[in-house]
Amino acid sequence: MKPVNITFCSCNKYLEKNQWKTYKTLKDLVVKKIRKQVPKAKVTFIHFHVPENHKEKITNDVLAEFKNREHVVEVVLKHGKCTMCSKEGTDYFEAVLQVRSTNYKVLEESIEFLKRKVDNLRQKGVFINKVQRFEHGYDLYITNKRVTQALGRELCDTFGGLSRASPHLQTKSRQTSKNVYRVNVMVKLPGFVKGDIILANDKVLRVDKLGKKIKLFDLRRNSSLSVDYSKLQYHILKKHSTYVSRLYPALEVINPYDYQSSMVKNKPAERPELGQEVNVVVHKGVYIVD
Ligand SMILES: [Zn+2]
Repeated sequence: MKPVNITFCSCNKYLEKNQWKTYKTLKDLVVKKIRKQVPKAKVTFIHFHVPENHKEKITNDVLAEFKNREHVVEVVLKHGKCTMCSKEGTDYFEAVLQVRSTNYKVLEESIEFLKRKVDNLRQKGVFINKVQRFEHGYDLYITNKRVTQALGRELCDTFGGLSRASPHLQTKSRQTSKNVYRVNVMVKLPGFVKGDIILANDKVLRVDKLGKKIKLFDLRRNSSLSVDYSKLQYHILKKHSTYVSRLYPALEVINPYDYQSSMVKNKPAERPELGQEVNVVVHKGVYIVD
C-alpha cells in the first residue's frame, strides 16, 4: 500500500490539493485516507504520535487489514501552518483598533477584554500582531477588518464610549497589485469606571452602569437617569475621606476643604453613626458617596 501523507495545522485543518480543509480528528482522517485506497480496510493504530512543533514530521505505522491479511501503512504527519495561522506573528494586519481613555484602569480592563475575545478567534485566523502603548491608550494591529469593527462596537457596549471606523487606502498589494484597504477603528472610552462620582450639568452623579447607555444616579434628587456617552460633558469628582460630625437636626460631616462642619446635601442609603468615617465629594456642598 502507498504511504499516507498528511500536512495539518493545529487549528484542525489539513492540506488537500492545495486547499486547507477542516478535519475532526487526525485518526479519522487517516482512516478515511486508507479507505480511499482500500474501501473496506479495518484500521488499527498501535502507536500514534503527532508532531507538535511547526515543520516537524513523524512517521507512524498503521495496520490495515483486508481480505484477512494485515498490511503496514506508513502514515507521515507533517505539522504545517494554514494560510490563516501563518499570519500570526508577522507584520500582517487589516485593521488598527485605537483605544483611548484618560483612565488607566479602563485601559487595562479593555485590553484584557479584547485579548480574551481575539484569543477565542484563533481558529478563524484572527490575531493581534502588534500592540503599541501610549500614555492615554493603545493601538492593536489585527488581522481581520470585520472582526475589528465588531470589537469596537462590543467595547462600547461593555465600557461605554464612542466607536468610529474610517477606511484607509493603504498600498498596492505586491502579489496582486490591487489596492489594499485597511480600517482604522477609533474607540474613545470614558475616563470613569462604575462607582465613580462625576459632575455633569451641575449635577453630582454616581456611575451605576456602563454600556451603550450610561446609567447614572443623581445624588441630590435621589433618582436614576440614562444618558448617551456622546452627550455627556463631565468631569470626575475626587473622593475624600472625612468624619460624621453631627446627626441632629441634620446630618453633618467635616468639609475636607475648610474643616468646618457642613450639612450633607444628599440622603445616604444608610444613616451613618456619629464619628463614623465616610467618603465624600464636594461640589457646592458636601455629598456622602459611600
Ligand atoms: Zn491554521
